Amino acid sequence: QATLEGSGKDPYPDWKAGEPVPYAALCTTFSLVEMTTKRLIISAHCSLFLQQVLRLTPQDLLPTVQLMINKLAADYAGIELGIGESLIMKAIGESTGRSLSVIKSDQHEIGDLGLVAAKSRSNQPTMFKPKPLTVRGVHEGLLGIAKVQGHGSQDKKISGIKKLMSAADVATAGKGSKGVDITKDKGGPSEAKFIVRFLEGKLRLGLAEKTVLVALAQAVVTHEAAVKGEKTPPAEKMAQGEAVLKTVYSELPSYEVIVPAILEHGLFELPEVCKLQPGIPLKPMLAKPTKSITEVLDRFEGKEFTCEYKYDGERAQIHYVAPDSIHQYPGATATLQKDAKGLCAIFSRNSEDLSKKYPDVLGKLDGWIKKDVKSFVLDCETVAWDTVNKKVLPFQQLMTRKRKDVKAEDVKVKVCIFAFDLLFCNGEPCVKKSLRERRELMHECFQPVEGEFQFAQFGNSNVLDEIQNLLEESVKASCEGLMVKMLDTAESGYEPSKRSRNWLKVKKDYLAGVGDSLDLVVLGAYYGRGKRTSVYGAFLLAAYNPNTEKYETICNIGTGFSEARLEELHTELLPMVIDRPKPFYSHSTVPKDQPDVWFEPKLVWEVKTADLTLSPRYKAAADEFEGTTGGGKGVSLRFPRFIKPREDKKPDQATTTRAVAEMYRKQEAVAKETAGKGGVD
Ligand code: ATP
Repeated sequence: QATLEGSGKDPYPDWKAGEPVPYAALCTTFSLVEMTTKRLIISAHCSLFLQQVLRLTPQDLLPTVQLMINKLAADYAGIELGIGESLIMKAIGESTGRSLSVIKSDQHEIGDLGLVAAKSRSNQPTMFKPKPLTVRGVHEGLLGIAKVQGHGSQDKKISGIKKLMSAADVATAGKGSKGVDITKDKGGPSEAKFIVRFLEGKLRLGLAEKTVLVALAQAVVTHEAAVKGEKTPPAEKMAQGEAVLKTVYSELPSYEVIVPAILEHGLFELPEVCKLQPGIPLKPMLAKPTKSITEVLDRFEGKEFTCEYKYDGERAQIHYVAPDSIHQYPGATATLQKDAKGLCAIFSRNSEDLSKKYPDVLGKLDGWIKKDVKSFVLDCETVAWDTVNKKVLPFQQLMTRKRKDVKAEDVKVKVCIFAFDLLFCNGEPCVKKSLRERRELMHECFQPVEGEFQFAQFGNSNVLDEIQNLLEESVKASCEGLMVKMLDTAESGYEPSKRSRNWLKVKKDYLAGVGDSLDLVVLGAYYGRGKRTSVYGAFLLAAYNPNTEKYETICNIGTGFSEARLEELHTELLPMVIDRPKPFYSHSTVPKDQPDVWFEPKLVWEVKTADLTLSPRYKAAADEFEGTTGGGKGVSLRFPRFIKPREDKKPDQATTTRAVAEMYRKQEAVAKETAGKGGVD
């Protein structure tokens, strides 16, 4: 636990018990967080602030946490602000009485819309004082903006932003721990700045969601001890509290459920009252890449494991509650679809609701559930299915399906569900059971229906040749390779949201020496040459650095696109064009390296590369190679090739710069090893 100067005192002394949490108080904490890069100090600031919320206005704890993690609701609620730069600029202009051209020129000069908003606000004479903003008020205001849809929605969103902006920064300035007025920094008051940054989707405080989770646990443990009249709890108790909250959150990633339960039952009771349940999608378990079957054998030596086909489709988490069990899951009616068969939904890898994309699957679900199954959560892959030849089709076919408002009777590309894990069954979470037990239960509860619902094909073997055969068969069956999973030990439990060493992926491409692919964010584009002049001919891509919350450029790509795809991309990217790079883009500033246009960070593409090098033109993982390369050089991809769009990934789920650095180092190590062998065969 880090100790803070002035700790023990409330970070925001002006707010009284029972009053709504002042938004200025949260911004004061944000400003304190912004001043440091030390994770422990950041966490301590957040914890102190949350303790104050718990003591004075616990009923506002939920919106406070949500504003801290830059999310208005859990992912499955599907609430996205989706506000582009031009809309925000218009709103700043209109709410501060400055012309759009002045705002644009400020943005051109400052490059950070948050600071432009703050500057515009501080230059504005205020005729009358609106009521100070509260955390709850800001949360509700932003939620209202996010929910506006349909005709005239742009204007309504602008007016929502204007409302918040005109009330920003009227509270008395807060005092920081050193007695400095920290609500005024870098060019203006901070409420306007943080509202705009929230709208942009990036607070840029270096405040990771995990840090907020830890801070919340610490705050609650400290507060609960204080209520009982106990001293500050020892580090051990804090660690226990953190572990409890982390586990509960991984199985039930919903502050909407967890925060009220903390307030009602206390932190240490959470595992009893907040369990994995149908209606709330959990973050899927992920696998580690491996380069060869021998690497798998080395890693799993002496342990029982299983090799499943790795289907190439879309991850699907299917939730179900039978009609006579609905009363046991009152919350599930809000997130699952209701019909005569009961409640059901399909969620993506990202916890996005895909039910409107797959009504054909949900419509036939009663065909494969056995009678005595009353509730479940299944982990599956949806794959395009060739109904004539009765086999799996390549991923590209799945891509051609409509994404929303699909009518089951109009579906042309049929899909088959391949189930590989059972996470919840008949009222009980199963994640702590071994994979063998979960698999047996899954086979007991469901019956396969060809072309609709099947179990992932598998073989339990630890013999190299047999695994090699399975791999070849999987590839012949249009799969990507194998998923090798621990089967019996305690380590074979399902680890939500974790990239686990207990699941290894062996893709055919690794074996061909092509290496793993990367998922990268499109930041910019270059107009084409020759017959491609009316479309973009190449794109600037970036990896994501979660520590600095920056997108760091990694390559230009112009290969792997058909002419038709380039046309589509031009249209798709047009509304994402921005005047200049965002302040959270890390890129070369050399004029000849600049793309012709910059974009909002939205699209994620899977890209394959021949190999990686260091280059001064790109910035990916440059901080990791600082000093060793003469400085400033980032990792870049050689001969990158576009594979497919990753619609199931958000930009901040792109390949991390840390992973990029690891890939580069691995490649260097292999190169050295090969060189060292110097011709010995
Ligand atoms: P990751 O999900 O690991 O970040 P990714 O999204 O690029 O990477 P892959 O590397 O292709 O995905 O591998 C993991 C994905 O494979 C899973 O998310 C799942 O959708 C899919 N999959 C197919 N078959 C299986 C299986 N038998 N077991 C687990 N996952 C499977």
